Amino acid sequence: MSAAVLELTAAAAAAAIRAGELDATELFELYRARAAADELNAFTWVADQPPASVAAGAPLAGVPLGVKDLFCTENVPSQSGSRILEGYRPPYTATVVRQLEAAGAPLLGKTNQDEFAMGSSNENSAYGPVLNPWDRARVPGGSSGGSAAAVAAGLVPWALGTDTGGSIRQPAAFSGIVGLKPTYGACSRYGMIAFASSLDQAGPLTRDVTDAALLLRHMVGHDPNDSTSLAFPGEIDLPSRHDLRGVRLGVPEELIGAEGGIEPGVRERFDAAIALAEGLGATVSPCTLPHAPHALSAYYIIAPAEASANLSRFDGVRYGLRVAGDADLTTMYSRTRAQGFGAEVKRRIMLGTYALSSGYYDAYYGTAQRVRTRIAQDFRAAFDQVDFIVTPTAPSVAFELGAKSHDPLAMYLNDYCTVPMSLAGIPAISIPCGLSEGLPVGLQLAGPAFSESRLLDAAYALELAIGFDGSPARTGGGGA
Ligand code: GLN
Repeated sequence: MSAAVLELTAAAAAAAIRAGELDATELFELYRARAAADELNAFTWVADQPPASVAAGAPLAGVPLGVKDLFCTENVPSQSGSRILEGYRPPYTATVVRQLEAAGAPLLGKTNQDEFAMGSSNENSAYGPVLNPWDRARVPGGSSGGSAAAVAAGLVPWALGTDTGGSIRQPAAFSGIVGLKPTYGACSRYGMIAFASSLDQAGPLTRDVTDAALLLRHMVGHDPNDSTSLAFPGEIDLPSRHDLRGVRLGVPEELIGAEGGIEPGVRERFDAAIALAEGLGATVSPCTLPHAPHALSAYYIIAPAEASANLSRFDGVRYGLRVAGDADLTTMYSRTRAQGFGAEVKRRIMLGTYALSSGYYDAYYGTAQRVRTRIAQDFRAAFDQVDFIVTPTAPSVAFELGAKSHDPLAMYLNDYCTVPMSLAGIPAISIPCGLSEGLPVGLQLAGPAFSESRLLDAAYALELAIGFDGSPARTGGGGA
């Protein structure tokens, strides 16, 4: 009985609990055992007991949730994958986590991630790398690598991640699951340990599109504690569409051309998915995002610039690690930061500080902001012609551990197809669209701001047609 229960999607498990066919505490215990025996290093902390109670009639019925380390959770370690936050247990819980707990999704465990969400492989974590359940010699993607691997391996039904430039979508693609980055402002950022505040968004990583819709439904909304959050227009609908009649899909030449370095195997799966979409009634046409090739350069100025400001609060005084000895205050700051931050984080702080320095501010940061504006305009113009934009999520399948960790530029190129949507603040979803070399390939669909319900509907129709079998990945975990 237990193995079958663990195969249920979160929505199916919630329905079974509500129907009295499944006990929420038993389900929590089954997952707790699996998560505690995790061999992928996907979890950084696992609950030691089920929640005292789940509100009667709660829509998510007690189905347990994995939460990326960077979400503050009261009295539970929250380090954003960094040594500098060693021992930090926040006095409060992030708004989205609180909302989900109130809706009946209790915290099962915290998941591993790249330090401060900087990375595309989860190798930049103070907790060590996460292994991909499809092939343990490979990375699960990043920065939400722990959430992606845990969901793919069936160690948790669903999980929260964050996406600044692709950190939900790319690990979802590498791990053969669904990941959605919402419209900027759709979900509160309150209690998320900040990386780049004008880009960071929370979102779901799930086994299928329906679960993504269900989780997102309870995450959105204005929060007085985050002045950039917005009231979501309407409710997130659960997807129901079986065809794509009348849907116009645009394939942006700039993102699938030579510069993006899309691998042939990924391109094949992408083309096959496009053919399926046409079979479902969609019209597919080329479209243009003229400034998209500059997105990566702009992102790698803007995100480090914001990070350099956000990370200045970690100085050994207020939170986590302090390396003092008999040093004076300034030496204590610098020793703490030298030992507390990893190499990639230091690189970004230096890049960002440089880009914001008075002599270079306009040349770098100013130019990057102007490019960002153009990119947002490109998308608006494209959405006059098409309903959604489709691309591969990442140029490759999951790569081997260590393959790119010494080459930052090669690592950054992973984000070629995901960063433009982040700069434009628009929603985008990655769904699995088959295998290449035995590894999952992700298909990305992006829509205009607040088009989440339509986007999920289109993704659902495609998911049904693609019929991706995620089950080989379920062998990756410990336990059952
Ligand atoms: N890989 C990108 C980076 O390192 C995106 C990270 C993210 O979305 N958090 O910045």
